[in-house]
Amino acid sequence: SIKRGRRGGYSFFEPDLAQTLSARSSMEHDLRRALANGEFELFYQPVLNLAAQQIVGFEALLRWRHPTEGLILPGDFVPLAEELGLIMPIGEWVIREAFAEAARWPASMRIAVNVSTVQFERGSLVGVLVNALAASGLAADRVEVEITETLFLEQSETNLDILHQLHALGLKVALDDFGTGFSALNYLLAFPFDKIKIDGSFVRALDNTAGAHIILGAVASIGRRMGIVTTAEGIETAEQLRNVRALDYTEAQGFLIARPMSRDAVRHLLDLSSDPRGEVPMVVEPKA
Ligand code: C2E
Ligand code: MG
Ligand code: MG
Ligand code: MG
Repeated sequence: SIKRGRRGGYSFFEPDLAQTLSARSSMEHDLRRALANGEFELFYQPVLNLAAQQIVGFEALLRWRHPTEGLILPGDFVPLAEELGLIMPIGEWVIREAFAEAARWPASMRIAVNVSTVQFERGSLVGVLVNALAASGLAADRVEVEITETLFLEQSETNLDILHQLHALGLKVALDDFGTGFSALNYLLAFPFDKIKIDGSFVRALDNTAGAHIILGAVASIGRRMGIVTTAEGIETAEQLRNVRALDYTEAQGFLIARPMSRDAVRHLLDLSSDPRGEVPMVVEPKA
């Protein structure tokens, strides 16, 4: 950016821009080594089935445990990893790690993994998934692949073909962050998604926007009538949970139900609460 300096001159680099650039280059440097150093971790957020009132699976969420910066969330490094092509090996690690972990859980527990557009475009995603299924012994029907709407901004034959290949493998495909893209409804015509995850921004808007209730209800109805599972994300209050339950969402996720938790916390949760049928009771009792 261009800024008028104190003495009336112009400088192209404001101090904070220079800082940003140097932070970026040091992050790039660190990111290139993070995989080899074992700095990535997966957290897992429980998914609640609203009718059964049971946890039916977990979504794997990537974290970077940086040696000096602490825990970094995906929003702060995934875009750079995508730009640098590093999302390919990182994304492969995510899939292998998540599948290996889920293979230890009761067979009723599903695992959801997020994949980036870049992983689709480079063409190796299907092979990576096949190999990770084989290595982990995990049944394909326990796996959900979450893709975001932006994938279809390039609504190419190739992308659709990959989605069909995922189905052919027996994997489920979920459309994540539904409602935040530009022509969300087109995607539902282009591919038979197994699940729609409505973005948390709509759930948050429930508190102060009348229209949010109508939109959430319309999406639930689309899911019901098209035979697509619906998940409401970002549930933080008992009232929001009541609302999405009343609107007949299939599933809910959010801090109220449980925060994303470490691998060990999930193991603890499943061991503590698993009964002989391998079912897991719900984490919170929602108020009626
Ligand atoms: P997402 O897939 O939509 O994941 C949901 C995000 O919402 C997660 O943020 C989760 O921690 C957060 N969340 C869950 N419940 C609540 C709630 O009640 N309130 C609020 N405010 N937030 C909640 P996170 O872990 O920071 O991930 C952000 C995004 O990064 C994800 O959005 C996903 O698009 C991407 N991401 C995460 N893991 C991976 C990965 O392994 N690979 C790729 N390519 N992207 C990933
Ligand atoms: Mg997701
Ligand atoms: Mg989402
Ligand atoms: Mg998201």
